[in-house]
Amino acid sequence: MPLPRRLLAGLQTVRVWIGLGVLAPLGMLLVSGFMLYDLRREMWGRAEETSQNLLRVIERDIARNVEIMDLALQGIIAKVQSPLLDGAPDPVKQLVLFDRVVTADGLGILVLFDEHGRGILNSRYPSGAGGSFADRDYFQVHQRDPDVGLYISKPYQSRMSGAYSVAFSRRIAKPDGSFGGVAVGTLKLSHFTQMLQTIGLGRDGAINLIRRDGTRIMRYPYDVRDVGADVSGASTFRRFLREGSGRFAARTDRDGVHRLFTFTQVGDLPLVLSIGLSTEEIEAGWRAKALMIGAALLALCGLAVLLALLFGRELRRRGAVEAELARLSMTDGLTGLPNRRRFDRELEQAWEGAARLGGRPLALLIVDADHFKRFNDRYGHAVGDEILRGLAGSLSAAIHRPHDLVCRIGGEEFGVILPDTDEEGAVRVAERLHAEVAALSVGSAGILAGALTVSIGLAQATPSGSLADLYRAADGALYAAKAAGRNRTCRAEARPAAAPHLRLVATANPAGAA
Ligand code: GH3
Ligand code: MG
Ligand code: MG
Repeated sequence: MPLPRRLLAGLQTVRVWIGLGVLAPLGMLLVSGFMLYDLRREMWGRAEETSQNLLRVIERDIARNVEIMDLALQGIIAKVQSPLLDGAPDPVKQLVLFDRVVTADGLGILVLFDEHGRGILNSRYPSGAGGSFADRDYFQVHQRDPDVGLYISKPYQSRMSGAYSVAFSRRIAKPDGSFGGVAVGTLKLSHFTQMLQTIGLGRDGAINLIRRDGTRIMRYPYDVRDVGADVSGASTFRRFLREGSGRFAARTDRDGVHRLFTFTQVGDLPLVLSIGLSTEEIEAGWRAKALMIGAALLALCGLAVLLALLFGRELRRRGAVEAELARLSMTDGLTGLPNRRRFDRELEQAWEGAARLGGRPLALLIVDADHFKRFNDRYGHAVGDEILRGLAGSLSAAIHRPHDLVCRIGGEEFGVILPDTDEEGAVRVAERLHAEVAALSVGSAGILAGALTVSIGLAQATPSGSLADLYRAADGALYAAKAAGRNRTCRAEARPAAAPHLRLVATANPAGAA
């Protein structure tokens, strides 16, 4: 069979269809699974990049602000220590000392404290406002240690404005090097929150600015309870400190939200900045898509499997119908015996089988009802049919071996194929046939046992002959049986060479007479 037809034939088997019905959805699942996985990776990549960029921008902004503040403080200290301002009135000093750039937006104040923590001058209020600030950490730290440099305070509530602020301070040294007070610049936390307001972080996103000692300066979204909170024990903060900068996903101790954290140290300041994006929000878009694709895919897969099963069932049904049709086309409708077509095929196969097995014997009997026309004439065609059915039963009853076969090959003519049977065996079968027929009676028509007889032509295949010879010989033997008076079996004489005309010699009748 050529390949395309073989493929087509293969496609018609039930198993192939069911296999395809399962494999195709499986393939779809695999491809979609890979696509969804890729989409998820892409979303995470985008979230990581976004938070990294955001972190960089905010970190630079804070570092720049602190740098400007520090420059202003250093400028104040340089001017204060210069003898040029000695004796100048306060308004002049205020004008010279305080850089308007730092406090221009009103978010902070620059203050000069003496060694007792009293405000000598500031950039906004009258001198000496607010009393002593000696209790503030940004004052005490310089009082204690001359080498602190720029100090970033813990967040605190301003005594003058009431706003939460953070202070940046530097030590002022007297000419002899002893503690002479501090220069302080403050910044309201609202400065940061205003800047962060413009950034979209999602519902559960958060930004944290924390001192390295674990004191939180602020958190966005802003909550006053977060200001100054100690987070040094939080696992996320410890990881920020340990790794310096980078990112990781973790659940926070504060609110239990799982976030992707991107974090860094702010410039070379003792500050840690982190951005946390809710992983659920990162994946929300993906999840909706995955759900949609998954549902559509499941429906499609279910449909494909259903179709494959239905198609498989249809193929099976068609196969069964075809098998039944094939069986019917090989069966005689009246007697239920195999018909002439099947007889021809089976005889051919038996012939080939015998040849293949090294010339094993094969016998053929042709059985014909005697004077059957008379039964029809006398009892009618319906009874004739009844008798034929009875005859078929009798013949079948006489056959015992599984490979022997009785077929109806004509009106009242039957063929009996006896594979692997020699002439003597066939004669015995013929005798049994005569005996069974002799016992046949058809009660409904009043036909008694012995009323019907048959004549049988018996032939034995010869190694050198052909199938046609065998059939002809059996038919000739039947003719001889009829001629010899019916109700008997005639044997075709076995001859070494195939002969078109056989001499018919042997006969057998129910009584075994030759
Ligand atoms: P012989 O002994 O020489 O065989 O005589 P016969 O009458 O049997 O032979 P013949 O060939 O002259 O007649 C065969 C008869 O078988 C003819 C027909 O009426 C009858 N017959 C054939 N097929 C059927 C059938 O299917 N049903 C019935 N009822 N009769 C059939
Ligand atoms: Mg007949
Ligand atoms: Mg006949």
